[in-house]
Amino acid sequence: MERYDCVIVGAGPGGSIFARCAAQRGLKTLIIEKESLPRYKACGGGLTPAVKNLLDFDYSPLIERKVSGVAFISRDDRELVYYPDSMPVEMVARRDFDHYLVRQAVSAGAVLIEKTKVVSVRELRDHVDVETENGDRISGLIVVGADGARSLVARAAGSRRGYGGIAIEAEIFPRDPAIVDEYGKHSIFGFGFIPGDGYGWIFPKKDHFSVGIGTSNTQMPGLVSIYRQFVDHFDFLKGADENQRRGWFIPYCKSSETINTRRICLVGDSAHLVDPFSGEGIYSAILSGIIGAQIVSDELGKKGYLSRRYSREVKKRITGDFMFGRWCSEIYYRAPSYFYRKNRVVEALTRLSNKEIRYRDVLNELLKGRKA
Ligand SMILES: Cc1cc2nc3c(=O)[nH]c(=O)nc-3n(C[C@H](O)[C@H](O)[C@H](O)COP(=O)(O)OP(=O)(O)OC[C@H]3O[C@@H](n4cnc5c(N)ncnc54)[C@H](O)[C@@H]3O)c2cc1C
Repeated sequence: MERYDCVIVGAGPGGSIFARCAAQRGLKTLIIEKESLPRYKACGGGLTPAVKNLLDFDYSPLIERKVSGVAFISRDDRELVYYPDSMPVEMVARRDFDHYLVRQAVSAGAVLIEKTKVVSVRELRDHVDVETENGDRISGLIVVGADGARSLVARAAGSRRGYGGIAIEAEIFPRDPAIVDEYGKHSIFGFGFIPGDGYGWIFPKKDHFSVGIGTSNTQMPGLVSIYRQFVDHFDFLKGADENQRRGWFIPYCKSSETINTRRICLVGDSAHLVDPFSGEGIYSAILSGIIGAQIVSDELGKKGYLSRRYSREVKKRITGDFMFGRWCSEIYYRAPSYFYRKNRVVEALTRLSNKEIRYRDVLNELLKGRKA
């Protein structure tokens, strides 16, 4: 049986960054990915500015478009409300971005096995047994669940949280490519199209738009027709070619739970670390990967297994503030068009996406709005 210090299941951002940091610290590290890479991932591919500060390598060649502003709209309106210099986002294609990240892990010394699905994870006293669909058995001192929203590793660690909210996304290619440049300066967010909390988005890429709609509800009957109504709202998308629509889960963070055992550590979507207000998940997948690798390397060296330190640190740096994020969401969704017309609210959201402030501060802005 092959033996590793860390066996990482899944080569999304969480897994690849964990693997890179672990390999850099001298741990014998393996990543197992079920897909053939590069693989498609249903995602808007929007990176907030803070992502750059987490990474110790340059990924600028992967940026398809830098979007400097934001625009909002509600279902009952035809006119967008523009903020030309707010909420900047770097747009990437997840297929390429994720492939680049996993290659960074491999160049740091991690071993990658792709096209191989992990089918069973069993935690024992002094190691974890991992079995693949080919019947191969691999042993890890630590196994990392980086296998996304439907995480098998999370279930092996005892999590019963389900898959989270849902979203649907497609790439839309306008007949006239100049339209992407014309509308390429802003992300667009649309409210009131989907019942409850949730929004539609239009993210401009190099030659197309990523268009989608999502909600924290675990079920949304008629999601495809809701998506269609959202797309039809925009004249500039009329007559465009649309590639295959794909739905997937968004595990919005609903509580700060324990996300590690003695030998299993969950990162990113497998740990339900998606921002409960914005739906951003790449940032926390990467950050949890970094925190996890630091603590795993430290604790393996000192005592050979994990304490609850990783779960505590993720709560401190990520999920603790998400409680305020959930309150922000509750307040904001009572009157989105009221709030997005307030300069100071959009400014607070811009500072939040730069990680200059936290949800606790955004909540104060929203509450001020309520009193006005
Ligand atoms: C429609 C949609 C739009 C989104 N838009 C944005 C956005 O614009 N910006 C943002 O920040 N976030 C966005 N998100 C959230 C973001 O995509 C996720 O939070 C992020 O991908 C989490 O990364 P991860 O590494 O935890 O998991 P993933 O990226 O899901 O990677 C998990 C990997 O594990 C592999 N895997 C799964 N099971 C197994 C197994 N049994 N064996 C081996 N491999 C396995 C999968 O093939 C996959 O490669 C969006 C999500 C959705 C659904």
